[in-house]
Amino acid sequence: MSARYAELKALEDNVLHPMSLPALDREQPLFVARGEGVHIFDQDGRRYLDGMGGLWCVNVGHGHPKMNEAIREQLDKIAYFNTFGDCSNEPSLTLASKMIGMLGPEEMDKVFFSSGGSDAVESALKLSRQYWRMRGQPDKTRFISLKHAYHGVHFGGVSVAGLPNFKQYGPLIPGCSQIDSPFLYRNAWTDDPEELGAICAGLLDREIAYHGSGNVAAFIAEPIQGAGGVIVPPANFWPLVREVCDKHDVLLIADEVVTGFGRSGSLFGARGWGVKPDLMCFAKGLSSGYVPLGAVTLGRKVAEVWDEPSPDGFIFHGYTYSGHPLACAAGVASLEIVEKEDLPANAAEVGAYCLEQLLPLVDRNAHLGEVRGKGLMLALDLVVDKATKEPVNPATGYSDELSLDCQRNGVIVRPVGPKIILSPPLTFTKDNVDELVSALEGAFLRTKLGA
Ligand code: PMP
Repeated sequence: MSARYAELKALEDNVLHPMSLPALDREQPLFVARGEGVHIFDQDGRRYLDGMGGLWCVNVGHGHPKMNEAIREQLDKIAYFNTFGDCSNEPSLTLASKMIGMLGPEEMDKVFFSSGGSDAVESALKLSRQYWRMRGQPDKTRFISLKHAYHGVHFGGVSVAGLPNFKQYGPLIPGCSQIDSPFLYRNAWTDDPEELGAICAGLLDREIAYHGSGNVAAFIAEPIQGAGGVIVPPANFWPLVREVCDKHDVLLIADEVVTGFGRSGSLFGARGWGVKPDLMCFAKGLSSGYVPLGAVTLGRKVAEVWDEPSPDGFIFHGYTYSGHPLACAAGVASLEIVEKEDLPANAAEVGAYCLEQLLPLVDRNAHLGEVRGKGLMLALDLVVDKATKEPVNPATGYSDELSLDCQRNGVIVRPVGPKIILSPPLTFTKDNVDELVSALEGAFLRTKLGA
């Protein structure tokens, strides 16, 4: 342990980390000091391949000169002023029109900025309820979502979440329910993707009918479920969901916080499924994580209720940092890079290569049940037994040990309960994939599943 490492470790006593078990997670902290492209460096200058993309967000890579230049340029003008009411600034206007342009096929019409993804989801939920109130249907307040869903950590977000751990801070907001997710590897229904897509869309239809469409505001889902374990739905699921929402006059919210701006191999996750949502949530790739930023976009049908002044139209919702000039300047630069470097295409190509390279590991490792993903969002599903598909108990520390082994060999991957998640920068190359896969292969050989 270097002296610098010891000094930094001593300072850890002052911090409570997010998503951590405080007493345990302080044992071997990783101190990130610097980043360059697809690499990060620790306090002693040791280099690691960033298989996490920061946290599914550093899409353009670390230290991109164009990002740094845009941020510095804005910093020299003004870092921050609010955008409440009629206050405005150029970077937020430039970014909003850039986003609307990129979202042309989805026919998005207005952008509401937030500080991050949880805020974007919260904004989408509130604006959907306000939309129905303004349309004279104030009873349309319920939200339906998917099991395994992750929609951030605010009370709205955890109320629509489908991951039980996040719901422990209840009581949550009433009127939220979850239907089965179209998870091919583990479901109670079928091995046939088309059939599964139809069954799960049918469950949505029944859930809306059960509560009465006059009481349901929206269905919210990630185009590909991320934190729940990179669950890629069958191709027919989203188009069928769109039909069901239209049939019942229920809004469709796509939570594109992870999938937005290229990660899944298409510019937007919903575009990958050929579907136009009514609202879309963004964060992460919007500014590539350089400065915190999120947004929700509204399609014309939703936005038009705000066209004329109305007594119900005041938006009693917004963040100090909505439309933050520095964050939006980072956003503009990030989206320009996504387009110029055609990062969605790279994510599709390199992601497909990564999946292909990982597949043989399944046959060679008793506790690797499945590898799945789309674009540069992938998951390795760790099981006790391949026949039962029983997930490994996270308390065994198996995924943590695997990821620590990779880290010791200069590669960062992310352990999430009984899974390893990969979400590198979208600038990743096939050589980077080879290095990552070889680190994982070694980790599986060296790591034993404990009791
Ligand atoms: N929605 C989804 C789909 C996410 O994956 C995340 C974050 N991983 C969020 C919302 C919340 O974003 P944030 O952590 O920026 O609040």
